[in-house]
Amino acid sequence: MRAAVLEAYGEPLSIESVDPPDLAPHGVVVDVDACGICRSDWHAWQGHGEWADDQVPLGQVLGHEPAGRIARVGERVDTLDEGDRVAVPFNLGEGSCYQCRNGHGNVCEDGYALGFESSVPGAFAEQVHVPHADFNAATLPEDVSAEAVAALGCRYVTAFHALAHRAGVDAGDWIAVHGCGGLGLAAVQIASALGARVIAVDVRDEPLAMATDLGAEETVNGAELEGEATDVPGVIESITETGTHVSVDALGRAETCRNSVDCLRIRGTHVQIGLTTAAEKGEVSLPIDELTRWDVTVVGSRGMPPSRYDELLRMIDAGTLEPERLVTNRVRLEDVSDRLAAMSEYDTRGVEVVTEL
Ligand SMILES: [Zn+2]
Ligand SMILES: [Zn+2]
Repeated sequence: MRAAVLEAYGEPLSIESVDPPDLAPHGVVVDVDACGICRSDWHAWQGHGEWADDQVPLGQVLGHEPAGRIARVGERVDTLDEGDRVAVPFNLGEGSCYQCRNGHGNVCEDGYALGFESSVPGAFAEQVHVPHADFNAATLPEDVSAEAVAALGCRYVTAFHALAHRAGVDAGDWIAVHGCGGLGLAAVQIASALGARVIAVDVRDEPLAMATDLGAEETVNGAELEGEATDVPGVIESITETGTHVSVDALGRAETCRNSVDCLRIRGTHVQIGLTTAAEKGEVSLPIDELTRWDVTVVGSRGMPPSRYDELLRMIDAGTLEPERLVTNRVRLEDVSDRLAAMSEYDTRGVEVVTEL
């Protein structure tokens, strides 16, 4: 089968013929209909993550946002059948550790990161294997499009879990979203659907216009004006009077993280969902005394437990959430390298999806 393989960091992915996946007794093999292209693929492609012992090995098939139908079912799988449509989390649990047994499969003690490690080749390929499929795969209604499903994960589910479960967003809360790439725009749409008042922040007008379409009440362009840095927290405070209840760094630069923390009101919650770049190497300095002084909460969040996909799928079924509205571009497997290169220049908008594998 065809697959896009990481042969050298920063070089075009190699489109190769590779062996189809082996089927584990607890796994399923999925025919991939679509797979989103995410900034995490870009981080992997750049060879980032060395600072967290998380560098993706060469030879890896990338791609971690698949939508598809089950082609083959392992002999010990109970709840899934050939032909079922499924969404697949990128952070797969093995189903039996303390975290998995308590509903936190997204942070499994011995889990797998689909498309980022050699034991779980990714979904920039005709087929992908999903281990521990009863635990991990979420079955989907027939009327949700493949593109909507590919748009779901990892970014959309990450934003949903971060806001709905980790930050506990309430209707009427002010929320700032710093960085309006695919992850940030997902956060804008979800926060708005949860009844929050959203302030979208970016340095580019086009994503901010998309954010407005997706439900942002206010936008802040944080680009430098005549060489002067914009005081993003100051602008947000003037909009909200006392700062935001929740603020999300959906980009992962030192500046966006700090702006996010600095725009909170007393007892506010900062949520980190963007991963840092080679400039930060996972470390950002924060005003610790201020966080202490004002009862501020700082929360990390990654993916979403598979057991909670149903909440999100019900909102999509009801039309309250429309992940497909984030999709701006449909490309071929051969185009992935070009789209990753565009991410280096922050030259992509919304969510781009591979639909021709
Ligand atoms: Zn586990
Ligand atoms: Zn991702």
